Amino acid sequence: MQPIQGGHGGPMEHAEVLIVGGGNAGISLAAKLLRDGVAGVTLVAPQPVHRYKPLLNYVGGGEATMADLERPMADVVPESCTWIRDAVDAVDPAVSTVRTRLGRTLRYTTLVLCPGLEEDWAATPGLQEAYADGWAAATYVPGSAPRVWPALSAVRSGTVVFTVPPEPASCGPTALKPLFLACDHWRRTGVLDGIDVRLVLPERTSVGIPSADEVLERAFAEYGVQVLRESRVERVDADLHSLTVSTPAGPQVLEDVVFAHAVPSYRAPAWIADSGLADPATGLVDTDPETLRSRRHESIWAIGDAAGVTPRPSGGALRKQVAVLSANITADRDGEPLQRYDGYTVVPITVGRRTLTLTEVDRAGRPTPSVPLVDPVKPRRATWWFDRYGLPQVYWRRILRGRV
Ligand SMILES: Cc1cc2nc3c(=O)[nH]c(=O)nc-3n(C[C@H](O)[C@H](O)[C@H](O)COP(=O)(O)OP(=O)(O)OC[C@H]3O[C@@H](n4cnc5c(N)ncnc54)[C@H](O)[C@@H]3O)c2cc1C
Repeated sequence: MQPIQGGHGGPMEHAEVLIVGGGNAGISLAAKLLRDGVAGVTLVAPQPVHRYKPLLNYVGGGEATMADLERPMADVVPESCTWIRDAVDAVDPAVSTVRTRLGRTLRYTTLVLCPGLEEDWAATPGLQEAYADGWAAATYVPGSAPRVWPALSAVRSGTVVFTVPPEPASCGPTALKPLFLACDHWRRTGVLDGIDVRLVLPERTSVGIPSADEVLERAFAEYGVQVLRESRVERVDADLHSLTVSTPAGPQVLEDVVFAHAVPSYRAPAWIADSGLADPATGLVDTDPETLRSRRHESIWAIGDAAGVTPRPSGGALRKQVAVLSANITADRDGEPLQRYDGYTVVPITVGRRTLTLTEVDRAGRPTPSVPLVDPVKPRRATWWFDRYGLPQVYWRRILRGRV
């Protein structure tokens, strides 16, 4: 699928269903809608490359390359979808139009917002400079992900800091994957005892689900990870190789840090709030978490990381959100009752080089395992294999083609 590019001076273009964002949510929804017989699907997406983001953590653990997770957008946009290679700058719900960065005005009947989250570098002064310096990097920032494993695997002694990003974040606790992959490597190579591994956690525990937290706490103890809880990186100094962390006991400075896997904070794009579509408390699209419809405008819907419809957004959550939203867009037109999303989400975390614990829960935190009778939280090689090798194939072949 080749994109329509450039500015537009002609008559106003109209889309039956206009999708903003060509990530996991936007592409899989476009494919599912077309498969469900909805015509006139248009996608506004600026980027030339599509990434399967979960593999970024394996890049940071030396278990994958960027080539394993990147495809040209032209290969993943569905054939009968109109792709406008541009970015949305504003929505005017009163007249059902969006304005784009290249100056288009597009009219829609139904609008779906799925632009994901963006890095909030200003929230952590000094962090961007530390990335430029090469002393900090993280799997969450694709441009820096290839630097993570060479840096971690070269450490033989000293202090290494890891962080989990505060919410809103994109499956935040998976930022622990590179930590455990590095710890396992250091243990196998006999240097772990000489490395002071620090973890800055925004909450008291990693996932907030007792069964998963128990597994992770045991793994922290086994590797000797020192955890700073309910803490955040406030400031970073690349020259001094130090991080200032706010903790419940007051600020603590971590000095002489050899390498910082410091994930930036995230926020929803500002134009969502500027267009009057955000929940003021979070900045995310103000969406009914069950029907996935905007609480402010009937013709607007949202899914994915920017939608605020599940406590921990994830790609796994999108498998359910896409199915519910595609059904609801059709049901709404036909005057049928809407389906409801139960808040299902996933948190997969490697706790060793070849083992993974998988949490699958609904909005209330109740277990909702995909494979009945198997406890996915118990670390297993089979779940690791599926996460690293099985799911990427399911993603490219089925999820992005609207077949799940
Ligand atoms: C490092 C990492 C590891 C992860 N690991 C896992 C995992 O193991 N399991 C799991 O289930 N989930 C995981 N996730 C989460 C998962 O990748 C996300 O939940 C998922 O990608 C969200 O999809 P999305 O479409 O909402 O957002 P994104 O995938 O971020 O896509 C949003 C798209 O919208 C585009 N966009 C932004 N602004 C505009 C605009 N103004 N106009 C048009 N387009 C715009 C962006 O360019 C982007 O392509 C991980 C995420 C990261 C970052």
